[in-house]
Amino acid sequence: MSESEERKPVEVLRTPVVLDYTYSAGQSSSRHLRAFGKGKLLGQRCPVDGRVYFPSRGSCPQHGVPIEGEPVELPDRGTIVTYSVNRVPSENIDLELPYAAIQVLLDGADTILFHVLGESSIDDVHMGMRVEAVWKPEEEWDDSVANIRYFRPTGEPDTPFDQYKEHI
Ligand SMILES: [Zn+2]
Repeated sequence: MSESEERKPVEVLRTPVVLDYTYSAGQSSSRHLRAFGKGKLLGQRCPVDGRVYFPSRGSCPQHGVPIEGEPVELPDRGTIVTYSVNRVPSENIDLELPYAAIQVLLDGADTILFHVLGESSIDDVHMGMRVEAVWKPEEEWDDSVANIRYFRPTGEPDTPFDQYKEHI
């Protein structure tokens, strides 16, 4: 390394990190993930206040009670309640940079789904934007949220802030 190169500031540092682990989903998450494999989005309703959790972990974290009732099937559309712009590539996301990482409140749910926005410029993404899921071809499905490739704008009018402000 020449003396002039030694004086250059370090601008990029590549540090590949790999973490292999086994995730035991449990009954509730298994039901949720298997539903993805059938193209369905299943939430569960808290028996105390009726809030719909998606995904459900089998109990309500607010009331500390089991959620054992019938699953609630949710539509694959909702509202962006917040987002961030991602300019860093990721191996498992095949969207062009930059793209928006979004938090979607599915219609009828009370908790947020983390996903990504496609078919939209980051100049257009905004809170309240209506979006719908774009699924992979069915032959590529497994029991995974990745069966939804991304969400895209529906073109519907925005959801008023008052209707989702408690879910941010
Ligand atoms: Zn509850």
